[in-house]
Amino acid sequence: MTIGILGGTFDPIHFGHLRPAVELLQDLALSEVRFVPSNVPPHRDATCATGQQRLRMVSAAVAGEPGLSVDDRELCRPGPSYMVETLRSLRQDLGQTPLCMIVGVDAFMGLPTWHCWRELITLAHIIVMRRPGKIASYSGELSELMQTHQIDRPDKLHQRESGWILCSDVTQLEISATQIRALVAQGKSIRYLVPDAVAEMIATEKIFAH
Ligand code: ATP
Repeated sequence: MTIGILGGTFDPIHFGHLRPAVELLQDLALSEVRFVPSNVPPHRDATCATGQQRLRMVSAAVAGEPGLSVDDRELCRPGPSYMVETLRSLRQDLGQTPLCMIVGVDAFMGLPTWHCWRELITLAHIIVMRRPGKIASYSGELSELMQTHQIDRPDKLHQRESGWILCSDVTQLEISATQIRALVAQGKSIRYLVPDAVAEMIATEKIFAH
C-alpha cells in the first residue's frame, strides 16, 4: 500500500489536477491518491472560494472514481497549512505506509521556501509532475537534494516509507485555476476544463463571479 498526497488550493480543482492523479495512481501503482485542500495557503494570496466550497468541489470531482479521495485535515486545522504538519499527521495515522507527496514542478522549485522543508523528504517520497510552461531548473539546495535522492524506478517507492524523489511525465494539460477563475469572471464557459459537477457548483453558487 503506497499513498499519493496531492495538496493544493484547488480554487477550483480542474482536469490538470485530476488526469495526472489518475495517471500517477496507475503508473506508480499507488493504492490511493488523496487530494488535500489547504486552509490558509502559506505561499500565496487568499483563495477566492471558501474552504468548504473548495472541499465540496474536490469531493464532487472525485466522487465514484476508484483510488481518488479527499482528505480535509488541513481545512480542519486552524492557521497556515504547512505540508510538513500534514505529513506528520498522516504519518501518525498511517504508520510506516509509504507516502508520496505529489507536486507540480512549479511548486517543487519553491520547496526550499516551505516551512521545515528539509523534513519533508524524511516523511514522504516526492513525486514531481511536469507542467506545461514551467521549465524545471534546480539550483543550490534543491539540486543537492535531487543528487542525493532522485530515482528513476517507481518500484523503489514501495520499498521504503520516504526519501526518494521521482520526476514523472504526466499528460500535459495547460489548465490552471487562475485561468478558470478569469473565464468565470468574464462570463465565459469552463466546460471541458473541469468536471461537470464542479462547473455546475460554480454556476449555481456563483463562485468566482464578480
Ligand atoms: P492557481 O492557478 O490558482 O495558482 P493551480 O491551477 O496551479 O492554481 P493549485 O491548487 O495551486 O492549482 O495546484 C495544486 C498542485 O497541482 C500544485 O503542485 C501544482 O503545481 C499542480 N498543478 C496544478 N495544475 C497543474 C497542471 N495543469 N498540470 C500539472 N500539475 C498541476
